[in-house]
Formats: sequence, C-alpha cells, structure tokens
Amino acid sequence: MSQFDEILDQHDFTKDELITLLASKGEEMSRLFDKALKTKLHYLDNCVHLRGLIEYSNKCRKYCLYCGVRGKNTKVERYTLSDEEVLECAHLAHKLGYGSVAIQSGERDDKEFVDKIEYLVREIKKIDNGSLGITLSLGEQTEETYRRWFEAGAHRYLLRIEASNEDLYYKIHPKDKNHDFHKRLDSIDTLLRLGYQTGTGVMVGLPFQTLDDLADDLLFFKRKDVAMVGMGPFIPHPDTPLYEFRHQIPSAQERMNLTLKMIAVLRLMMPEINMVAATANQTVDPLGREKAIMVGANVIMPNLTPNEFRENYLIYPDKACVKDKPDQCQTCLDIRMESIGHKVLYNAWGDSKAFTSRH
Ligand code: SAM
Ligand code: SF4
Repeated sequence: MSQFDEILDQHDFTKDELITLLASKGEEMSRLFDKALKTKLHYLDNCVHLRGLIEYSNKCRKYCLYCGVRGKNTKVERYTLSDEEVLECAHLAHKLGYGSVAIQSGERDDKEFVDKIEYLVREIKKIDNGSLGITLSLGEQTEETYRRWFEAGAHRYLLRIEASNEDLYYKIHPKDKNHDFHKRLDSIDTLLRLGYQTGTGVMVGLPFQTLDDLADDLLFFKRKDVAMVGMGPFIPHPDTPLYEFRHQIPSAQERMNLTLKMIAVLRLMMPEINMVAATANQTVDPLGREKAIMVGANVIMPNLTPNEFRENYLIYPDKACVKDKPDQCQTCLDIRMESIGHKVLYNAWGDSKAFTSRH
C-alpha cells in the first residue's frame, strides 16, 4: 500500500497528513474523492437535503474585504424584503416540499432588525404547524439575540469563521471593533452552547491562504465539533479591496479542485455532518454543485429570493441561478441529482445526523 493510501485509510489525520491529502493530484486525488463518496453513502445514504434560500437584505454594517455587498460598496442598490415577500418565499418552499428554509442577510444588529427576524421566524413557524425547519445566517449577534431567535423557532445557524488563522483573518477583514476575530470565535461558541445546530466554514483559494491554513481550518471544524460546514471557492469581486490580489490566487479550476478536496477530506474526518454544495461551486464550474455532492456534500440551497432582488445580492460576480425561477430550479435539481445517482429528499428538515445522533 502506498503512503498516500495508508493516510487515506484513517479518519483522524495529523496536520502534515492533511496537507498531503490537500496537495493530492491526478490518480491520488481521484482515490480521495472515491473514498469520500463511499464514506458519505455509508453514513448518510444518497440523499440530498434542501434549504430554500431567502436572501433577506443586502444592507450590511460590515466591510469584509472580499464581499460585494460590504457596507462600503456604493455601487449596490440596497434592499430589504418586505414581510409579505419573506412569507411568500416560505410558503413557496413549503409548496415545493423543500422542508427547510435558510434566511441569509447582510449583518445588522439594530433593534428593528432583531425584532423583525424574531417576528419572521415565528410567522414561518406557523406555516403548516411548524413543518418548515429554519436555518439562519445573519452574522454576529449578542447571546440575547441568538437566544431570542432560537426560542422563536430557528434551530440551525451558519456562521463561517472565514479563516481560522487570526493573521489571515485580518488580511481579509479590516482590523476594527466591527471585525474582531475573537468575537467571531465567541459567536460560534455561543451558538454551540445555546443548542443550535451550528455550521461554520471558510472560503477556499483566498489570497495569502496556504495549505497549512486550510489544514488548520479542517482541524478547527473537528475541534469545535460543528454539525454543518459550508465551503466554497473564493470569487474575486471587482468592487472589493481583495480584487487587487486576484492575480495571486490559484486559477478557478484549482480553487474548485481545492474546495472539492476540502469537502472530501472533511467527509472522512466528520462522516455524519451536513455539508453544503455551495452555489459558488456552480459559479466557478457549471457542474460544481454535482461535483461537490460526489465528493461528500449532502445539502443544496436552491434560491427562493424574488428574481428582482437577486441581482443586488451579488456577494461575488456571475452568481449562478440568478435568473432561474423557483419551479424551474426544482425540476433542474431533481434531474441534476438523479444524473449522479442521488435523490432529493422532500418534506424533511434534513437535520445533521452528527447533531441528532448526539442529542
Ligand atoms: N452576512 C452574513 C455573514 O457574513 O456571515 C451572511 C451572509 S454572507 C454574504 C455569506 C457568505 O458569503 C460569507 O460567509 C462568505 O464566506 C461568502 N462570501 C462573501 N463574499 C464572497 C466571495 N467574494 N467569494 C466567495 N464567497 C463569498
Ligand atoms: Fe456583510 Fe456577510 Fe458580506 Fe461580510 S460577508 S460584508 S458580513 S454580507
């Protein structure tokens, strides 16, 4: 057995072993992908869970150096969906059998926003007697806010650490009180403590990011014992400060492969967690989402945001599915998943098995 295959045979890896796996190419990379797919099918079957994505607002108080809707980008037309629009999206998710919705937004922490989210979560929970699961991805908030939203009925929360290396974190975020690495870490800990199915993640292929950093990110996910992870390739946005470093990052194909390797290795390390096949994968490669599913991801987030607003939620350029209608999206997903031997699981919350088997 080659040294690579000996490493592949394990579930716990040292940092050096992780770097070896992440550096794999050609035949070795294919063997990693095969092993990850087999592991996923063994633990989680060939089911794909859906979260109907509602991009609630692009108003953001933060200045993340990579994101197209950062507060300082004056070229973006700012919007917030009305209550009716959010509830229409949720009803549509229910009608399409999506089982869960995910509300994502630029970050705000004012009273009006916090109250509004609590109200919307309660209203969504009224649909068919609480039949929709709710994931929130609304950035850093106080413990009190997280608790209120949890008590209102949200039970999953996604907060990517973005970079678990503090130095790298401050190369992709300004260093000020609004972008505090330790506050981000504390927020993740608070979510875990409150009982949310907590998700985190990173962008892959950032300027200044090394394989060493990515290996540390994987060890961070494992150490935090999170229930869900979302990872996608970094896509440079022309109206952001990191765009000037676009020539220093790996090619789109390399960022895609590296993302797939991160997903595959993490599936070996944490076989029962939920992992999202991020839309950013499909933006970089038309078959990106299918590829992510084939190396270990098991969640897809079809977009339910009304089409007229999607153009303004461009966190990165050329985002996939911006013009698709929701029902087209459903048929397209069914066909795409069937074509790779997977099936979409309708009318189910699709909770993380890593979380439910522990609680
Ligand atoms: N504002 C919330 C937050 O930051 O946690 C949630 C929404 S934010 C737009 C969702 C994710 O988009 C971020 O966690 C980030 O990883 C990702 N993202 C932002 N800009 C990106 C880019 N240029 N390329 C790839 N992903 C990006
Ligand atoms: Fe705002 Fe989230 Fe974009 Fe940062 S990543 S600028 S918090 S929307």
